[in-house]
Amino acid sequence: WSSETIAVVTGANRGIGFEIAHQLALHGLTVVLTSRATAVGEEAKKVLQEGGLNVAFHQLDIDDIESIKSFADWIKETYGGLDILVNNAGVNFNVGNDNSVEFAEKVIKTNYYSTKNVTQALIPLMRPSASGSRIVNVSSRLGRLNGKRNKLGDIELREQLGNVDTLTEELIDKMVDSFVQQVKDGTWQSGGWPEVSTDYSLSKLAVNAYTRFLAKTLSDRPEGSKIYINCYCPGFVKTAMTGWAGHTSPEDGADTAVWLALIPDLSVSGKFFAERREVNF
Ligand code: NDP
Repeated sequence: WSSETIAVVTGANRGIGFEIAHQLALHGLTVVLTSRATAVGEEAKKVLQEGGLNVAFHQLDIDDIESIKSFADWIKETYGGLDILVNNAGVNFNVGNDNSVEFAEKVIKTNYYSTKNVTQALIPLMRPSASGSRIVNVSSRLGRLNGKRNKLGDIELREQLGNVDTLTEELIDKMVDSFVQQVKDGTWQSGGWPEVSTDYSLSKLAVNAYTRFLAKTLSDRPEGSKIYINCYCPGFVKTAMTGWAGHTSPEDGADTAVWLALIPDLSVSGKFFAERREVNF
């Protein structure tokens, strides 16, 4: 790896995203640290630059299509494209055992739709390389299809989502849209949705399913232009999102993302990982 390799990390001003940016830069890459608020992003960039690392900053609010567009234009102009994308930015309004769906629409938008928008805008700018470009989606075990308390009540939907041959983007969109509609109608509680952190878990289930779907659609790219896309769970991490209640440090939480982004012989795509090991969806 060299400073010629360009890695973009979303939501990298703090928490796991900051550590992913830090560790990728320690490997000698050029890291583009992005955040929705400029001042905190510039500050985070400064901290890493003072450590002698090759880090640039650009504003990116993943919820804002115009911001995504300006960012994509800037990446193209400045570097001619990118090699690694880590979709880390995310939100969760459930604290502890709270199961609030008050912000369900926002959670689904940011964690699923906005992640998808960033990915779709940047895929055309991913540069050809012998080892393949990489996309890593920061997801969660809470989004597992067969999690203990997180099973979808609709068995047919679960089977369709679990089978890569029947998995479509429309199916995932329809699922999350129907949940948001039920929240608006006040009927979500009988909808058979994940029991724990319902809106957040569903948003990550959608990210996992989209990762698999996209891997399938990207799989026929020719040798030299391959893009490998995987998702992973960082564990229960001490960050603002968990009120610093996690068991794992942001450094350890970042590890599998960096491993997936840099492992030389990676040819797996559309898989879910935790602690550098593959886990069932
Ligand atoms: P933090 O809350 O510390 O960090 C979340 C980051 O996402 C912040 O930088 C935040 O920016 C950014 N973000 C939120 N919305 C947007 C947006 N619209 N545009 C750009 N950036 C945005 O939490 P973590 O570091 O813990 O979370 C990082 C990822 O890890 C998330 O995807 C989360 O779901 C996932 N995760 C975390 C776990 C944990 O235990 N902590 C467990 C499993 C998964 P800002 O500072 O402006 O709010």
